[in-house]
Amino acid sequence: MKPVIALVGRPNVGKSTLFNRMTKSRDAIVADFAGLTRDRHYGSGKQGKHEYIVIDTGGFEPDASSGIYREMARQTQQAVAEADVVVFVVDARAGLSGQDHDIAQYLRRLGKQCVLVANKAEGMREGMQLSEFYELGLGEVHAISAAHGQGIRGLIELALNDLGLDDTDDVGAEPDASIKLAVAGRPNVGKSTLINAWLGEERLVAFDMPGTTRDAISVPFERDGQKFELVDTAGLRRKGRVFEAIEKFSVVKTLQAIDSANVVLLLLDATQGITDQDAHIAGYILESGRAVVVAVNKWDAVDEYQRQLVERAIESKLGFLKFAALHFISAAKRQGLAALWPAILQAHQAAVCKMPTPVLTRLLLEAVQFQSPKRSGMFRPKLRYAHQGGMNPPVIVIHGNSLEHVTEAYKRFLEGRFRKEFNLVGTPLRIEMKTSK
Ligand code: GDP
Ligand code: GDP
Repeated sequence: MKPVIALVGRPNVGKSTLFNRMTKSRDAIVADFAGLTRDRHYGSGKQGKHEYIVIDTGGFEPDASSGIYREMARQTQQAVAEADVVVFVVDARAGLSGQDHDIAQYLRRLGKQCVLVANKAEGMREGMQLSEFYELGLGEVHAISAAHGQGIRGLIELALNDLGLDDTDDVGAEPDASIKLAVAGRPNVGKSTLINAWLGEERLVAFDMPGTTRDAISVPFERDGQKFELVDTAGLRRKGRVFEAIEKFSVVKTLQAIDSANVVLLLLDATQGITDQDAHIAGYILESGRAVVVAVNKWDAVDEYQRQLVERAIESKLGFLKFAALHFISAAKRQGLAALWPAILQAHQAAVCKMPTPVLTRLLLEAVQFQSPKRSGMFRPKLRYAHQGGMNPPVIVIHGNSLEHVTEAYKRFLEGRFRKEFNLVGTPLRIEMKTSK
């Protein structure tokens, strides 16, 4: 599992700037999808061969006592508690504040591995103003500049250093053909209801779980001869014949489950519409490259008008998941559930699809003939051939000249062609351009 780094600090110290730096390797992909980069609170990053999850905890208020702030604080504290390491950001220019002390006290009580960084330290003389931060009692202070990209590599190294990382995390590489499935969604969308409905089905054979603990577990089962493994998103526990979630919701577990799944079933709640939290989870699924099926639950509880609203909201807020199959279900009434299985299988097959070089190249050249890429100034991109660069999700690498001038619109045009030919429903598809020197 990828280690989780939580960014903590009072507002305006530069957490989201740092977050963007730490997740930068994915920027190119994310930028392709309008609306996704704004207001993201979690993402993944990679340094060297180590991948990690970063959570920007936003406005951290240790003592928020009411309403939505309390819920935010609760979620934040849970994320911090579940993180492997906390990066505590303070502002080198503004100096130490009372709120910094409160946060430090909270972190010390937690007894968690913690890296203290003083941001906005560009151009400041080594050690000068930083000595006051030792008062926080969290050990050494590391000067960085998130805005200028200074000290970020060192920070990530430091954060990951003591975690004893395991490099063997290649999803889908297992020889047994079990499909790892995660049901992801915010609290109360009906995840437990759906899982219990599934596991109660006669066609589905659940195997006994060895040593069910509070730690992440997974439930192996078989359906119509296909082996599955249900990846835990929130402390699934067996209670008699049914399963229940111990913790109602955990961001960290959700992210890790998405990372370790082959296919993610994103569950939405028709009665609540599409919320920012839905969009965040969806964005993370896309970023992680997992195959995905979208199911709108509680379809039984909404009228025709609400249904139309939901359908429109999905189009506008989750447009970047257009490649995924969309199902309308009622977990409670067990309606529409059977159709999810073929969709899950289809998404998985798409994710591991093999695309022979000759076919890819033929498609590419046909596409170019149908509509060639636009000239950009003096340059006309020349697309020569294509090959598959990876699976899970499929990556198509296109070779040629001046490819940096290929527009996003043209890439989408190519993507559509490739998707159609290989019937790629339910998986992200990445297209990389390699210009020959
Ligand atoms: P957050 O509220 O903690 O997420 O802080 P933001 O990332 O939104 O940053 C707050 C402000 O500090 C913005 O105006 C940033 O441009 C600025 N900022 C962030 N990092 C740096 C830095 O390294 N140096 C300087 N001088 N400003 C920075
Ligand atoms: P979870 O937090 O995502 O695991 O959600 P639960 O499975 O605990 O469900 C939350 C609430 O939604 C419960 O009160 C369920 O009875 C209700 N619920 C779940 N599925 C459906 C459905 O298909 N239709 C309706 N009307 N309610 C549902």
